[in-house]
Amino acid sequence: MNLILLDPNDLTDDGYVCITDPRRLTHLRDVHRSTPGDLLTVGVQGGNMGKALLKELTAERAYFKLETLEEPPPPPLPVHLVLALPRPRMLARTLEHVTALGVKEITLLHTKRVEKSYWQSPELRPDKIHQHLLLGLEQARDTQLPIVTLSKGFRPFLEQQLPGLLSQRRGLLAHPGMPNACPRNINEPTLLLVGPEGGFINWEVEQLLAAGCEGMHLGPRILRVETAVTALLSRLF
Ligand code: SAM
Repeated sequence: MNLILLDPNDLTDDGYVCITDPRRLTHLRDVHRSTPGDLLTVGVQGGNMGKALLKELTAERAYFKLETLEEPPPPPLPVHLVLALPRPRMLARTLEHVTALGVKEITLLHTKRVEKSYWQSPELRPDKIHQHLLLGLEQARDTQLPIVTLSKGFRPFLEQQLPGLLSQRRGLLAHPGMPNACPRNINEPTLLLVGPEGGFINWEVEQLLAAGCEGMHLGPRILRVETAVTALLSRLF
C-alpha cells in the first residue's frame, strides 16, 4: 500500500481522517509499521492525493490530520481492455496488475475456451472485484477506480457491444501467430482484446478481424494471460 486510499466517508469536515477497517489498520501497523508523527501519502477515491499526518493508531482506528490534498492522480491509459475470463486466481492478479498500470475500463468476456464454471467463482462478486481494484490503486498511487463489466456471451458481445466499442477506438487483437507485431508507443484510444488460457478459437479470431480488429503478436513466446497483458500494455503505451 503505497497510498492510503480513503473513502470520502473517512474524511471529517474539519480536515481529519478516521480509518476503522481492519485491512487498512493491519497494513498500517504490520507493513508500514507506522507510528504517530508519520507523514503518509493519502488519496481520496475518485479525487486528489496528498499527505496526512498520523496522530493516533490503535487497534480500533487510525486518526490523521490532512495536510495537503492537491495532487491529481496519474493519467489513465487510453485503453479499454477486453479480457477473456481467466481462472479465478489469475483473474485476481490480473485485475490488480492492470489497475496498477492505469487501465480504467475492463470487460470480462466469455469465449469458447473459458471454463463455464469460472463465471460462478466468488472472485467475480462485486466486493471481491472491488478489493482487487483497490489493491491495484494503492500499489500504483492512483485514486480512479476502473469500471469492470461482465460479458457472458461472445456472440452478443460481438453483435451488440463491439461495434460501439470500436467506433472511436483502434481494435487490437492479441493472438500468437498473427502476421503483424504488436505496435509500440501508440497514444490513441485503443480496444485491446486478450484471449483465455487456451487462446481464441479460429472462428472467434475470424469474427473479431471481420469486425475491424487488427491482429497482432508479441513474438514467438506464448505468455500466460497476466504476463501477456502486462507486456502488451507496456509496449503499447
Ligand atoms: N495456446 C494459446 C494460443 O495459441 O492462443 C495460448 C493462449 S495465451 C496463454 C493467452 C492469451 O494471451 C492469448 O489468447 C493472447 O491474447 C495472449 N498472448 C499470449 N502470448 C502471446 C503472444 N506471443 N502474442 C500475442 N498474444 C499473446
